Amino acid sequence: MDRGHVPTRMCVICRRRAPRRELTRHVLPQNGDDSAAGGLQVDERQRFPGRGWYVCADEKCKEQFLKFRAARRKRKGESA
Ligand SMILES: [Zn+2]
Repeated sequence: MDRGHVPTRMCVICRRRAPRRELTRHVLPQNGDDSAAGGLQVDERQRFPGRGWYVCADEKCKEQFLKFRAARRKRKGESA
């Protein structure tokens, strides 16, 4: 019973919804030192608090997410 009631998350790249376990969660490093740590880190256990970015298992999405990370980092640097 309760089939179909699976917690889902949306891939930030393709915006497709998938069960959370099928996505990789990325979070800001716990120490808050975003720029030094190179942006986001993988939250393997999916238990870090705060904002998370989920990416599905699609190779294209993984590739795009690397650019997403880089762009995010660059924008932060330029805003100084
Ligand atoms: Zn995706």
